[in-house]
Amino acid sequence: MDYVIPVPEQASLAVAGDDRRFPVRRIFCVGRNYTAHVREMGGDERDPPFFFCKPADAIVASGASIPFPSATSELHHEIELVVAIGTGGANIPVARALEHVYGYAVGIDLTRRDLQQFAKDKRRPWDMSKGFDNSAPCGLLHPAADVGHIAQGTIRLTINGSVRQESDLAKMIWNIPETIAHLSNLVVLAPGDLIYTGTPDGVGPVRVGDWLTGEVAGLSDLNLTVD
Ligand code: MN
Repeated sequence: MDYVIPVPEQASLAVAGDDRRFPVRRIFCVGRNYTAHVREMGGDERDPPFFFCKPADAIVASGASIPFPSATSELHHEIELVVAIGTGGANIPVARALEHVYGYAVGIDLTRRDLQQFAKDKRRPWDMSKGFDNSAPCGLLHPAADVGHIAQGTIRLTINGSVRQESDLAKMIWNIPETIAHLSNLVVLAPGDLIYTGTPDGVGPVRVGDWLTGEVAGLSDLNLTVD
């Protein structure tokens, strides 16, 4: 196949213990999935979670340094467990959802909170508050075949060594199988899709010069610098 411009580079994640990489197809994010975070954002915890997307090339690897994003004065961190889909499907039953998971990683859903609030107020889309360049840092991907399936354990984010977010994955409102099942009713999931599974409470600002560390029990840390 010939193309009229150079073919864009395939977004991908490094895989623990493997020289091969995981190709990223789409990035889906859960809008609210921990009760304490729903409350801190002024939401109603009885509302069901919802999804939004980031472009695949918003991925940033662990160890990277990213520029402070344009067009915001309120960049926020959201630490999240990332689920990587290995086999696709539609209308996936909860009981079979984990069969579709390739592995897990630590992610940060970077957010232009000021633009998001403006979009909420104006009933406009979230794309430019959530899906901007470098908005999806994601650490080393660990195959479920090695680390098992993850349903509980500490999730934590520190900035310059001080803890800003700390919770337990067991506090998700919708667990991972339920999230996969629900999302697969909205889109046909495909190999390469990532799901950022929502953030616990404690979201807050990231400033120029900060170094961030994201941790999930059993996975490799995600390190990021903003400059
Ligand atoms: Mn989020």
